[in-house]
Amino acid sequence: MYIRDLLGSNGPVFSFEFFPPKTEAGEQSLYQTIERLRALRPTFVSVTYGAGGSTRDKTLDLVRRIKHEIGIEAMAHLTCVGAGRDEIHAVLERLAAAGIENVLALRGDPPRDQAAFVRPADGFAFAAELVQFIGECGFEFCLGGACYPEGHVECRDRERGLTHLKHKVDCGLQFVITQLFFDNAAYFAFVERARARGIHVPIIAGIMPISNLGQVERFTAMCGARIPEDLRARLQEVRHDDEAVQALGVDHATAQCRDLLDRGAPGIHFYTLNQSTATRAIFERLRG
Ligand SMILES: Cc1cc2nc3c(=O)[nH]c(=O)nc-3n(C[C@H](O)[C@H](O)[C@H](O)COP(=O)(O)OP(=O)(O)OC[C@H]3O[C@@H](n4cnc5c(N)ncnc54)[C@H](O)[C@@H]3O)c2cc1C
Repeated sequence: MYIRDLLGSNGPVFSFEFFPPKTEAGEQSLYQTIERLRALRPTFVSVTYGAGGSTRDKTLDLVRRIKHEIGIEAMAHLTCVGAGRDEIHAVLERLAAAGIENVLALRGDPPRDQAAFVRPADGFAFAAELVQFIGECGFEFCLGGACYPEGHVECRDRERGLTHLKHKVDCGLQFVITQLFFDNAAYFAFVERARARGIHVPIIAGIMPISNLGQVERFTAMCGARIPEDLRARLQEVRHDDEAVQALGVDHATAQCRDLLDRGAPGIHFYTLNQSTATRAIFERLRG
């Protein structure tokens, strides 16, 4: 099913994001996670797209298995990193042949050894170009994209960021998913600014339950999201007690989700990091 048809048809959507594991053991553990989360009846799940070769094949393999063998609607992420048009076209053909109907079209981050993103030979410099290409080739995927309530790290001018987002949506996106954020005020202010700029697609909120302070500090430094001071202070107090950090992470994410849904967010996308415990705990509380 197309995600655009699932959005708004029966209340908010809930989705879980996974990444392709590097090892056989990681893969077994991921299938167990998916099995545990399946009981929560997510609207769809998505699988990220890595930097190269074998992990990219795994993205295709995972979305195909999740959709056809496990029976959950699955979306493939796709980036412009290190690939020209022919290679991207070949991946899109494989996705279409596997019956995948939803693609998250992204530019991707620069490879670790590069300071800035460089357009690959015969490839794309921005996600908007990828979105346009997919449409021009006649593929019939439902396309989603990324957006950044607190700004993208390469474009701290939020108004310019919105101009880029408007262009990307106009190229053919049917929904967007936000970068993770911990302060709902950032999400609602962003939605308001986006609407004022004529961006009318659903804006799904990306939520990552905190389970480790060091890890979340690394993530937020990379992606430009902010940890509110009061949350950071509470995390600092319990930083040497893993269980207490996780409990605080679940409390905070649950409160975020309740408020987002009460105030009309069309859906929540959980960055699961391939773990089921926190997401399950949040769901149980939301439904309890
Ligand atoms: C929900 C979600 C899922 C993700 N999944 C993955 C994944 O699976 N794999 C992965 O590698 N990464 C993933 N990412 C990270 C993403 O690839 C990075 O954030 C990347 O740096 C930007 O990708 P984008 O698609 O938003 O790029 P774009 O929309 O192309 O934007 C990139 C930058 O270019 C600027 N820009 C856009 N158009 C122009 C223009 N015409 N002129 C000048 N500047 C412009 C934007 O403002 C922004 O700063 C994900 C991010 C999110 C939010």
